[in-house]
Amino acid sequence: MSLFETSDRAKKYQADLLEFMDSHIYPAEAVYHEQMRASGDPHFQPPVIEELKAEARRRGLWNLFHPHPEWGPGLTNLEYAPLAEIMGRSHIASEACNCNAPDTGNMEVLTLFGSDEHKEKYLGPLLDGTMASAFAMTEPRVASSDATNIELRMVRDGDEYVLNGRKWFASNAMHKNCKVLIVMGKTDPTAAVHRQQSMMVVPIDAPGITVMRNLPVFGYQDREGHAEIDFTDVRVPAKDVLKGEGEGFAISQARLGPGRIHHCMRAIGAAERALELMCRRAQERVTFGAPVADRSNIQDWIAEARIDIEMIRLLTLKAAYLMDTVGNKEARTEIAAIKVAAPDIALKIIDRAIQVHGGAGVTDDFPLAMMYAHLRTLRLADGPDEVHKRAIAKQELRQYRDAAVVS
Ligand SMILES: Cc1cc2nc3c(=O)[nH]c(=O)nc-3n(C[C@H](O)[C@H](O)[C@H](O)COP(=O)(O)OP(=O)(O)OC[C@H]3O[C@@H](n4cnc5c(N)ncnc54)[C@H](O)[C@@H]3O)c2cc1C
Repeated sequence: MSLFETSDRAKKYQADLLEFMDSHIYPAEAVYHEQMRASGDPHFQPPVIEELKAEARRRGLWNLFHPHPEWGPGLTNLEYAPLAEIMGRSHIASEACNCNAPDTGNMEVLTLFGSDEHKEKYLGPLLDGTMASAFAMTEPRVASSDATNIELRMVRDGDEYVLNGRKWFASNAMHKNCKVLIVMGKTDPTAAVHRQQSMMVVPIDAPGITVMRNLPVFGYQDREGHAEIDFTDVRVPAKDVLKGEGEGFAISQARLGPGRIHHCMRAIGAAERALELMCRRAQERVTFGAPVADRSNIQDWIAEARIDIEMIRLLTLKAAYLMDTVGNKEARTEIAAIKVAAPDIALKIIDRAIQVHGGAGVTDDFPLAMMYAHLRTLRLADGPDEVHKRAIAKQELRQYRDAAVVS
């Protein structure tokens, strides 16, 4: 048994999920695009997604991410990793299995810190796949990769807080089923730096909330949307503060750990699919009397892609293993490392797959262009590369700090 070999239970999920991908997900991709095109609405909820959700649920391929047995199969990170990778091969698979960001992270937060009322009103429907949610931390006016900069004010007024400020890049906020936001803001600017922030559960239709616009990503209007949202005198009952005032920063750390690694797992799936498409295309297309696959530079790209995928998969599994065995905090360096490496390597492979496809690679006849646009955003979302590298370097340098005696 290798170090990262998974359990029999997880292997069964893998086999079932692979079968579901072949029988339902891949054939549904063209239907999805056709339904979206026909609707003329970038935020339309296509019926095919709801059909896939019903089928995934019937097959028990539902809420696979959720670590608590009460709410899902209760898989470990190591068991879930190959499943997230498989779902990452198609942009519709995660939603079909109710394993899509940011709902997954929000469901974990509500499980850990939500009140009974939050669980009944929001967590239940989220787990059922009948509701969607968004996470609003980033702001247009401040550098949000340093979350201590967050400015949205949350001022206590009796039994309520009054929210004023602006958020953007709230992914999923344009989803037709989005009903709730988890909002991070500042409750006490005089407190210690990491105790100034709080998180609140806020219905998206609360008076004073205006969804201003969707932010296109490389020109794509993503169906779930990345919304800019204005908050003017939004009143939130004090009971909707998660965990307590001043706990926002701690919750965001708890939320982003698993979320980050899920993104990496899916990025590996996207890289695998790009490699598969690259190999197929290179064998089909003939130039100057020989298949493109016969050229040594193309073989070099294919070999490098295989080597790189194996490396990032191992690092992802190591991070998942550490999260399971010593906890997210102890695994933070590995989580940060894979959050940098996985999107970077996946992007390189997708870029080469696009090149091998020639002009077709940048069209929507193949999923590569969309995969590229999505993966490129992952070098920013959930923290830009530089911030993760900073954390790794700090950790690395720490061990030499005391030894650095200048003679
Ligand atoms: C598609 C997409 C979806 C997103 N979804 C969400 C969401 O659902 N909810 C949410 O709240 N946010 C979301 N975000 C926002 C994302 O988390 C932020 O864009 C990110 O944290 C960076 O913050 P910023 O844009 O304010 O960049 P800034 O903080 O202004 O930073 C700009 C750049 O400065 C550089 N930099 C920063 N710090 C350092 C450093 N220490 N050393 C060297 N260079 C540095 C980095 O290159 C960084 O990209 C999403 C973003 C994208 C693109």
